[in-house]
Amino acid sequence: MDKCSFCGRDEKQVEMLIRGATGFICESCVEQASLILKDSFVNEKFNPSKIQLKKPVQIKKFLDDYIIGQDDAKKFLSVAVYNHYKRIMQKHDKDKDVEVEKSNVIMVGETGTGKTLLAKTIARFLHVPFAIVDATVLTEAGYVGEDVESLLTKLLQASDYDVEAAERGIVFIDEIDKIARKGDNPSITRDVSGEGVQQGLLKLLEGSIVNVPPQGGRKHPDQKTIPVNTQNILFIAGGAFDGIEKKIANRLNTKVVGFGAQDSHAHIDKKDYLRYISPQDLKSFGLIPEIIGRLPILTHLDKLDKEALRSILTEPKNALTKQYIKLFAMDGITLTFDDEALEYIVEKALEFKLGARGLRSICEAVMMDAMFEMPSKKVKEFIIDKKYANEKLTISKLT
Ligand code: ADP
Repeated sequence: MDKCSFCGRDEKQVEMLIRGATGFICESCVEQASLILKDSFVNEKFNPSKIQLKKPVQIKKFLDDYIIGQDDAKKFLSVAVYNHYKRIMQKHDKDKDVEVEKSNVIMVGETGTGKTLLAKTIARFLHVPFAIVDATVLTEAGYVGEDVESLLTKLLQASDYDVEAAERGIVFIDEIDKIARKGDNPSITRDVSGEGVQQGLLKLLEGSIVNVPPQGGRKHPDQKTIPVNTQNILFIAGGAFDGIEKKIANRLNTKVVGFGAQDSHAHIDKKDYLRYISPQDLKSFGLIPEIIGRLPILTHLDKLDKEALRSILTEPKNALTKQYIKLFAMDGITLTFDDEALEYIVEKALEFKLGARGLRSICEAVMMDAMFEMPSKKVKEFIIDKKYANEKLTISKLT
């Protein structure tokens, strides 16, 4: 009689026996094995001693595969993440004389330039829990909105509520500029979504034990909370900081009066003030100095020009055009975008001022009819040219 090669029970004692090359396995042994696997994956995923320390250059190379340009931000992030790994590993190090301090990051750049994409791509690369959270939902305790602590709920969820793992994770706080206070001076009236929230956030960034509501939202007295130590959590903040260029320009222009001024002024690229951003500008924008101090690594993202947008369409590993080409290939159709069509899409994206974000909606509008009709047609080849792109975009709701 056939028997399970793992537990020894015969076919009468089990529901099912699965035949392998040299033996059998029963359904309950399959289940057991699956649990063991799952367990070991969870543990392995977050086991710092098993982390292979990738060098900053390697991290940046990985980012290069998915993100066009933004070399500064990539470099800064790669170093921050590398040092974060080192910090985590240091916890297992006997020599603790010098403790490496956490260096949270802040990225400033227009919408659709790749801030979230950078954070997401880093997440794919890492083996620590990672969460993207939005600062706009936060309000000061006692008001409608979410408590600052709820930012960590997503991180807990990402780590399957494994607190120890979450405590070594990374949190991307999007739209940090939205919690800036409305002026450079502390307000006399209450600023519900501004300074109060920043004060709350400070607690998280500084490294302390925070009581996190496991389901997020607003804490209430009878809800159980989970204490999480944020000392080793790396925070990466991002924001568009609309209008900050004016503040940078003002600062630079006031600086360049006086002896030798002409020289330094000559080097300033007026089209691209963001690259001169400094912590002072964040302060003028309305971030409190304590928050700025806790986000010591400041980097910027460049505006995406024509060339960059064009590269984004075609070059990254999962570039938009590559995705459509793959979708059509599944139906046996060879899809091509001709040069003029690509140029046209880029020009429209620039017109819409949504950064690379506009590319996706334009492409969708251009491709929708083709994606609808082509699979049922007996065509082997389809070319998107400027005329076709223009025709489809004109009848879409986008223009
Ligand atoms: P942000 O967070 O700066 O507003 P996102 O990272 O969400 O912008 O970008 C929106 C989309 O645009 C991304 O999903 C990606 O497809 C594309 N994108 C933006 N910037 C880049 C870039 N530098 N390289 C490649 N794709 C980009």
